[in-house]
This record gives sequence, C-alpha cells and structure tokens, in this order.
Amino acid sequence: MYFDFIMSNVFPENLPQATIASYRTRLVYDQNDTKAIKGHLETYKIEGEYMGSCNVLGLVCFSVVLGITLGKMGEKGRPLQTFFHSMSEAMMIITGWVIWLSPFGVFFLVTAKIMEIDSFADLVATRKLPCRYIAKMGQVMATAFGTASSSATMPITIGCCDDMGLDPRITRFVIPIGATINMDGTALYEAVAAIFIAQLRKVEMSFGKIVAVSVTATAASIGAAGIPQAGLVTMVMVLDTVNLPAEDVSIILAVDWLLDRFRTTINVVCDALGAIIVTALSQGDIEKSRAMHNDLEAAPAHELTEMEKGEH
Ligand code: ASP
Repeated sequence: MYFDFIMSNVFPENLPQATIASYRTRLVYDQNDTKAIKGHLETYKIEGEYMGSCNVLGLVCFSVVLGITLGKMGEKGRPLQTFFHSMSEAMMIITGWVIWLSPFGVFFLVTAKIMEIDSFADLVATRKLPCRYIAKMGQVMATAFGTASSSATMPITIGCCDDMGLDPRITRFVIPIGATINMDGTALYEAVAAIFIAQLRKVEMSFGKIVAVSVTATAASIGAAGIPQAGLVTMVMVLDTVNLPAEDVSIILAVDWLLDRFRTTINVVCDALGAIIVTALSQGDIEKSRAMHNDLEAAPAHELTEMEKGEH
C-alpha cells in the first residue's frame, strides 16, 4: 500500500492537479458488505482518493525530468529556460512585496488572536511558580553552561521535561523548535552588547534606535544556530542597525566564550519553560486525547491498532 501511495505521487496523473492535491489510499469499511467485520483489516476495501495538499514529490520529480530534458535540448530549449528564469524573477519580486507587507499582516493576525482570548490570566500564567520548575533543571543548566550549545543540550532538556511529567508529544515538538529559534538569552545579549558597543563608540542612541536594536536582536537570535558563539555571527545584523561596522564584534570577542555559556543556559531554560506553558495551555486537548486513547485501549488491541492504521 505504501508502494502504491509513493508511486502514485511520484508520477502524478495530472500535473495541474498535483499542485493542489496529493493521492492517498485508505481502508474503507463497507457497511453494506455482509462479510465485512469491523476492525478486521482483511475485510476492508482499499480506496484511492485525492486530498487537499500539494503533491511535492510529484512536482519535484517532474521538475527534475523537465530540467534534464531542457538541458538535453540545448538551443531549442532556451525559450522555456528563459520563461522559467523570468518567472522565477517575477516570483522573487512578488515575494519581496509580501515580505514588505508581512509586518502589517502579522500585526492584524496577532490583534485578531488577542481579541479572541477570553481571559488574559489563563494565557499568561500556568498559575505555577517558574522557580519550581527551574530548580529541577540543574542538569540542563549545567550541560548548557558546559557545552554552550542549545542543540547539544537538547536530549537532556527533553529528558528533563519527560521527568517533570510533560506530555512527550509536546516536548518532542516544542524543544527542537525552541533549540532552533527560541533564543531569549541570545536576543537579550545581542541587544545589550550592541548598545554597549554603540556607547563605547559614542554613537547617540535615541529611543527609536534602541527599539530598532531590540527588534533586530530578536530577529537575529531566531537566525542564530544552537551552537557555540553563533550569536556573534548574527550580531553583525544588529550592529548594522546603528550603522556600526561588523569589525566592532571583535570588541566583545574576548569575553564572548564566557557570556555565551550564560545566554545558552537562559536559552535552554526558556525552551523548557515554553514546553511547560504549551502543556498548560493544551491541558484540555491532552485530556481529550488520553480519554480517546483509553477508549481505544479498552477495545480488542489487535483490531484497533489495525483500524488506527486505516489511513495511509
Ligand atoms: N550558543 C547559543 C546557543 O546554542 C547561541 C548563541 O551563540 O547565542 O543557544
């Protein structure tokens, strides 16, 4: 069934359709079939259907084939190549416009979401003291301090969250994302370091510039990798905001190895706190899924695991 699924997607029947739908097979229980027994996989029918998600596999396969063909055609294939080149340029221009407009979009999106919230108290507090959790993160903090890398600390962070009783589905989703993009320590550090360098260079820092530095530092921290001294590289972006040369990073180079350990510790602790907050906010969903799981467990095990596999 997997083979059928992959092959039907790799070679799409209809190319325009592949841009909006992908093929899948699923097991269907036919209620009118008197021989069909619910839960008995062998009595189910296999049906193919298109679902509403782009068939990336098919499109990539077609692009490779088309690319090879155009290469082989030489001069004759040139018009099509030129078409794709100018199409790509046009898309880049449109993407530029979208990026330019995105802050407005994000602003309205966030405003709409905030207006949907019934109680701010529920949103901002897990109603538990963070210190209680932080106290249990000794090993995480020691590893982060020792390695100066969020990525290297990730297995320890996940293990610690599991020990605290967080749902593994949440920790395994939130912690890797956090280790990649949630770098609170780095964001704070980059903003403070840029302001320090600006003061050292006697650059006037208006309120607007401080806001710009803070925003850029946050964006730069998202781009920083979870490895030692990665923040130093993205720091160049922040210095550029206040028109300082990239070489000024060297001012803090000598102490960065030590400061990096502190900011990495903050980064990983905040990742774990993020997982705790997501767990608190998803409590309702977790309970629902546990109840569903318990119901499934209550039924004969073999039949139901097969039923769960019903969709491929
Ligand atoms: N070392 C930090 C981390 O891994 C990144 C940085 O240099 O700020 O989280």
